[in-house]
Amino acid sequence: MTDPREQLRRYLEQRRELGERELVLDDLSVDEVLRIVAGPHRRSATTPKAVAAETAARTPPVTETPNDWRETLRAAGAAAAQPEARQEPTRGIPASTPEVGGELAPAGIVVGTTSRELFGAGGPSLESLDAVSKAIATCTRCPLYATAKNPVPGEGNPNAEFMLVGEAPGATEDETGRPFVGQAGQLLEKILAAIKFSREDVFIVNVLKHRPPGNRNPRPEEVSACSPYLVRQIELIRPKVLVALGTFAAQTLLDTKLSIGKLRGQIHRYYGVPLIVTYHPAALLRNPAWKRPTWEDVQLARRILDRAARGA
Ligand code: URA
Repeated sequence: MTDPREQLRRYLEQRRELGERELVLDDLSVDEVLRIVAGPHRRSATTPKAVAAETAARTPPVTETPNDWRETLRAAGAAAAQPEARQEPTRGIPASTPEVGGELAPAGIVVGTTSRELFGAGGPSLESLDAVSKAIATCTRCPLYATAKNPVPGEGNPNAEFMLVGEAPGATEDETGRPFVGQAGQLLEKILAAIKFSREDVFIVNVLKHRPPGNRNPRPEEVSACSPYLVRQIELIRPKVLVALGTFAAQTLLDTKLSIGKLRGQIHRYYGVPLIVTYHPAALLRNPAWKRPTWEDVQLARRILDRAARGA
């Protein structure tokens, strides 16, 4: 088996080549973690005396070879990592979701009650995610179905505790029928990896389920026509944390015109579910300066989830 220290070192070097510098693991920078894992193979000291001093200064010494690189990192003195144990997903979030993360970020906009009854009696009778996808596939509630090649209902773990909401399918999504599989999707996967998720762990959807021609902005009547599907998906998945990717998803879910700059950094509530707003991955491709704030936003979302899972 590959030495976990070596495995981690290679992983970090890859991240560095991709231009990542910070917030890879527990707020440590790529360089800091590389220094921690460098161990005897990559000493900065060159003389035998300096090497001995550097070794002595490293507390606690890493003597064993744990099976997992996270253990290696912790053994080398890194801050405790996020808990990896996921609780069994619970179906049905309690009527009143406990307040989580109060001290992590200020409370933001509250949409809906905490009863989680988004539709209430008389709502659409789409009893499963599959039923929602089938309804989307034959939907004619707005004209977008006529120009789109494929519906893009969304995908992921039906028991996901972490759910991300984007704007609308782009060209690659329209071709494949899958959300976030183009360039923005590849960046989204990296963002997820930074908080120890793969796309199979989470559920990814868009506000609109068909591509607007030429990627134009969604129109209000299209959003109204499509919203019931998104709402039903959230209701069926019952995530513990929602992340709105970009202005459009954020403004739609929070029913506001406030800018993304004002919506970030707060814990909003969508029918009791904590909702974090961050930049859209496509915007990050255009403006890499937003990468750092995005990393901070998703770390916040991850901490909220971890606390909720611990019942804290
Ligand atoms: N942008 C989105 O908002 N959603 C996708 O699925 C792809 C790009």
